[in-house]
Amino acid sequence: MSARDSVLIMYAIKRELKLNNKEKSFLAGCAGFSRFVYNHGLSLLKATWDIPEISGSDSKRIDPIKKVFTNITKKQEGMEWISNYSSRIYQNAFRDFKKAFSRWREPKIKAEMPSFKRKKHQGSFTVDSSNGKVLVRAGKLIKIPTLGTFRFKESIPYNCVSQTFTISRVAGKWYVSFAVSGCKIPEMKHNHKQVGIDLGIKTFATLSDGTTIDTPSSIKEAKTKLGRLQWRNRNKVLGYRHSGIKASKNAIKYYQKLRKKQKIITNIRADFLQKTTTFLAKTYQHILIEDLNVKGMMANHKLSDALSSLGLYRFRELLTYKQECFGFLLTIVERWFPSSKTCSLCGHIQDMPLKERVYRCEHCHQVIDRDLNASINLERWISNADGLSVNACGLEEADLLGCTASAAAHCGAGTQSSLAGIEQQTV
Ligand SMILES: [Zn+2]
Repeated sequence: MSARDSVLIMYAIKRELKLNNKEKSFLAGCAGFSRFVYNHGLSLLKATWDIPEISGSDSKRIDPIKKVFTNITKKQEGMEWISNYSSRIYQNAFRDFKKAFSRWREPKIKAEMPSFKRKKHQGSFTVDSSNGKVLVRAGKLIKIPTLGTFRFKESIPYNCVSQTFTISRVAGKWYVSFAVSGCKIPEMKHNHKQVGIDLGIKTFATLSDGTTIDTPSSIKEAKTKLGRLQWRNRNKVLGYRHSGIKASKNAIKYYQKLRKKQKIITNIRADFLQKTTTFLAKTYQHILIEDLNVKGMMANHKLSDALSSLGLYRFRELLTYKQECFGFLLTIVERWFPSSKTCSLCGHIQDMPLKERVYRCEHCHQVIDRDLNASINLERWISNADGLSVNACGLEEADLLGCTASAAAHCGAGTQSSLAGIEQQTV
């Protein structure tokens, strides 16, 4: 076994739950409890800021606040309802609360100051097993520590173990997510050696072997529908808390519809990115992509909408973590390499304004598609700049978990089957 085989990596699994009304209202109650704890902690902490006698950092203040909650608040009159809910919910709510504050206080992260959670926001809460990891059996049922047994909408194909479970509601649907660890899949044979990929707005990805990958047209259709919905409801009284205008019933219905439509777009995009990156990771031994100067491009407003809706940054993030799973090499080509301006045939460099879609070389008169030309240059980059290649490897497990956590779970079909393989090895 090589070193590559022996390392465990973390994956996140996220599945929709199939719930009846009773279960739905129970989970909504749990989310409400978690929100109550968070907001209660926040208001107590803010109150301590006004008392000059109290000193110490926020994180030092949070532990006594938790004690106040456990020993006083919980026992107050009118708070009996708290005992209906798992204590793991409030333990985890405090943990999140503490984390949110340390993120805010950390200058490197530049997180926003934690604010009160509102019912309107999508609810979520976390529970964990205090006795270590628990087994989640293959199949349609999941036993969530301290909450009970629930049904998945789609079964999971393998046994796995996890300790912490996060339940969340998005656009009226409930999901559970949890992290599992697995071995990498064994060294696999890639059919193609090297490829350069040019990412763009017109064509999502152009590969140096001539393959092009387009964003699915269903995204465009879903966006048109969303736009239509927003336009039709442009005159609705949507409510404005600060001036005391309440949202009408129809406005609330509109918000629900809007969230559903937005969720559809997010899902199509996530699915597309997962499947595309899995395909690339399985097909090519060595992938070279440009270092996206996302921040720089975001500053250009015309480009920013197109780029953020394409998920280019997410694309690179996914490739980076799938590198661990599929064992290919990912090279991020330095930002100032003039991949679009260079002729892929003779190496001549000329200006290429963004609107120019075809590269016409002034020197050797080659005529070639702009993106294809750029991708060919990217593929060859390694050979003319030795030692500069960056191996995106070397991520910490925690990082991996972080970047998989959101999308994760649902890796496109490809990854799923390989995950199944991983589980068989470990269990
Ligand atoms: Zn040329």
